[in-house]
Amino acid sequence: MLETFAYAANSPQSPLLPFSLNRREPGPHDVLIDIKFCGVCHSDIHQVRNEWGNSSYPMVPGHEIVGIVNRTGSAVTRWKTGDRVGVGCFVDSCRTCEACTSGEEQYCEQGASFTYNCYEQDKVTPTYGGYSRHITVDENYVVRIPENLPLDQAAPLLCAGITTYSPLRHFGVKPGDRVGVIGLGGLGHLGIKLARAMATHVTVFSHSPAKQADALNLGADAFASTTDPDTFTRNRGGFDFILDTVSANHDYNAYLNLLRRDGTLVLVGLPEPTLLAAGSLIFRRRRLAGSLIGGIRETQEMLDFCAKHQIVADIERIGLADINQAYTRMLCSDVRYRFVIDLERD
Ligand code: NAP
Ligand code: ZN
Ligand code: ZN
Repeated sequence: MLETFAYAANSPQSPLLPFSLNRREPGPHDVLIDIKFCGVCHSDIHQVRNEWGNSSYPMVPGHEIVGIVNRTGSAVTRWKTGDRVGVGCFVDSCRTCEACTSGEEQYCEQGASFTYNCYEQDKVTPTYGGYSRHITVDENYVVRIPENLPLDQAAPLLCAGITTYSPLRHFGVKPGDRVGVIGLGGLGHLGIKLARAMATHVTVFSHSPAKQADALNLGADAFASTTDPDTFTRNRGGFDFILDTVSANHDYNAYLNLLRRDGTLVLVGLPEPTLLAAGSLIFRRRRLAGSLIGGIRETQEMLDFCAKHQIVADIERIGLADINQAYTRMLCSDVRYRFVIDLERD
């Protein structure tokens, strides 16, 4: 066992506090990673606060992990000491179901082992995430961080990046399409960069008018304030594809009405349930879909795409001790555009 320093939540109400946890010694197929940086995703807040109703404690969040391989198990061939690697939202899966064999391990029919607030495939060993200095992971659930991407700015690609890349690809977004991105936070800002790199015309829908200049600097072609009711009449029927990254309750019908015939609204934000009017879908044969992160193969493809197009996250670096304040700021939409924990800082 290898003891490592971490931060954990002990209940939905309590702040995260220092915590000590044991990582397993690398087995034949494991790699031990020295975590250098870990991004802070809004899913961390949802789970720390038990907003999805499935939280267990102590919880060490964090699933945007990048670091350096410290050592490898005896049978590992793909990785060596010193490699720059990443670990995203899951650390294992059954490997035999239809989803796993199709490279979509996040949809594992037996249940993927999510990186924290979950269990290893033995269904008894809890998983602990990246708000910690080391992690031991099976070699097949590790990805390579391309050399030209700085590690700190690459960390958010492991969740926010793949979560926005995967639906853009899966739903066949193509050059010239009119794409909307709702919510300019961690996911949203990478959604803009990725959609732009795919040569689409991008409009940001935001309830924070002060983010207009940033949206355009990030590469958006247009900015629409959702606090202005005219936004919803002016943009009616104008979009091929809309990616909804909002973390709080809002009206999906209003955004469905912005789609043209056969357009698709994809939900990736995960707030409380909300009502849907059938008419919002029926009249222009619109589609409403959801999407969960991406598989290992597609995550590597996304990282290579980002390396080619020089796409990284805009980040604010913090120490573990700053995490509670970072959560407070994220809940006020006050982050430009991802907090990233530097594990070498206190
Ligand atoms: P984030 O950085 O906090 O950004 C969320 C954005 O939502 C905010 O910046 C804000 O954008 C908008 N927003 C927040 N409160 C709002 C409100 N009351 N009304 C309207 N808009 C509001 O969060 P994130 O890390 O990008 O995550 C976003 C959501 O995606 C979370 O629910 C998270 O759990 C989920 N998620 C899903 C997946 C998946 O696989 N499907 C993966 C990762 C995360 P504006 O200020 O521009 O309005
Ligand atoms: Zn996430
Ligand atoms: Zn499976």
